[in-house]
Amino acid sequence: MSVLIKGGRVVTAADSTVADVFIEGERISLIGASLDVDADRVIDATGKLVLPGAIDPHTHLDMPFGGTVTIDDVTSGQTAAAFGGTTCHVDFCIQGQGQSFAEALAGWHEKREGKAIIDNGFHIAVTDLTDGGTLEELATLPEQGITSYKLFMAYQGALMVDDETLFRTMQVAAETGALVMVHAENGDAIDVLVREALAAGNTAPRYHALTRPPELEGEATNRAIQLARIAGAPLYVVHVTCKNAVDAIRTARDQNWAVWGETCTQYFFTDITDLDEPDFGGAKYVFSPPVRDKSNQSVLWDAVRTDVLSAISTDHCAFLLDGQKTMGKDDFSKIPNGAPGLEDRLKMIHHFGVNEGRITLNRMVDLLSTSPAKLFGLYPRKGTIAPGSDADIVIFDPNRKTIISAMTQHSKSDYNLYEGTEVTGDVDVTLIRGTVVVEDGVLQVEPGFGQFVERAKFGEQLL
Ligand SMILES: [Zn+2]
Repeated sequence: MSVLIKGGRVVTAADSTVADVFIEGERISLIGASLDVDADRVIDATGKLVLPGAIDPHTHLDMPFGGTVTIDDVTSGQTAAAFGGTTCHVDFCIQGQGQSFAEALAGWHEKREGKAIIDNGFHIAVTDLTDGGTLEELATLPEQGITSYKLFMAYQGALMVDDETLFRTMQVAAETGALVMVHAENGDAIDVLVREALAAGNTAPRYHALTRPPELEGEATNRAIQLARIAGAPLYVVHVTCKNAVDAIRTARDQNWAVWGETCTQYFFTDITDLDEPDFGGAKYVFSPPVRDKSNQSVLWDAVRTDVLSAISTDHCAFLLDGQKTMGKDDFSKIPNGAPGLEDRLKMIHHFGVNEGRITLNRMVDLLSTSPAKLFGLYPRKGTIAPGSDADIVIFDPNRKTIISAMTQHSKSDYNLYEGTEVTGDVDVTLIRGTVVVEDGVLQVEPGFGQFVERAKFGEQLL
């Protein structure tokens, strides 16, 4: 099967030119002006943008959390992704207490078997390290294409690790070529503040943010940076929300330390006042780190523009407002933390980032695709449009207006953080490895199409 995408504007992190793209089998074979080739299928992309498929380095599908399970499984979450122009993601495989990494990974592979729509890899979330056991096993994971270790510095009594586990994991990563990822909040201090709030009868959603102040994100971010520096491991700070953490990352990057950070779509568009939405609507905005004072939004735009932050993910972790979030109706600490977002990232960042002049189109491609691909061992197989790369391509109509709503989304969640927002620019066609996956508003592949990707080690290329 061969496909010719004709006459679109091909945009990568570096370039923007009107060109044809010729795909043979699963990969791109030729790019050029007015290609003279015979193709099984020709797609006219005149007036459209031809973008590398977006890559989401931070998602949670089919994950048990907070006494329930995320509402999106692999099929519904990845369908939402495909409609939103995301062609590959890296999901978190969470090690249970006392579990080996092999057992954890087998469980996560089972969740995607026969259900995958798009391609994905796994990060391993380390929760329990034992001498001679999982500590040794951890070192073998990069050879299996699991090339990033995630640690939670928050969620005491659940996923949180102490500094010893964090530091020893960093030491392993320094030896094995894995990237260390941290959820950076001071979980011990948060736990004290949560108990104090509940004892004082403060149970509403707004106390979720008030018990997780930005100083505790800044402190944990800086702690992780210093520990990674001593261990000699590369570090990636997930879901950065505030000036406190941005400043710590900027300081490290100014010194050329191996430190990167991401923020997520929702932190540009939601703020602490959303938690006061009536009728328990504030629970929709309960995720961690929490929504912040609005002044942080411009800090984040500056940070992604200037490469202090290098990626924008979604942290898609979807729950129902009615039936799951309501578990915390009388106690904010029982509201499952998380929100949907896999389908909306490209449209929201294109409209409010590019259309409104905050970042360039090239920078958008870098933040949503190329940088995540490079950091997480997917590049140049994925993350760009080049001969030899997988034909993971989004044909994007930059002029089509659309209104974002839970009524039309593909996530199973019953709400959308951006409900009623009108954006200009929408996905026309999504291709993965040369196959049309979404076209004319219809999913074109069956569950099972998506492949598992064994990622390259940190700093190495995936060919
Ligand atoms: Zn997350």
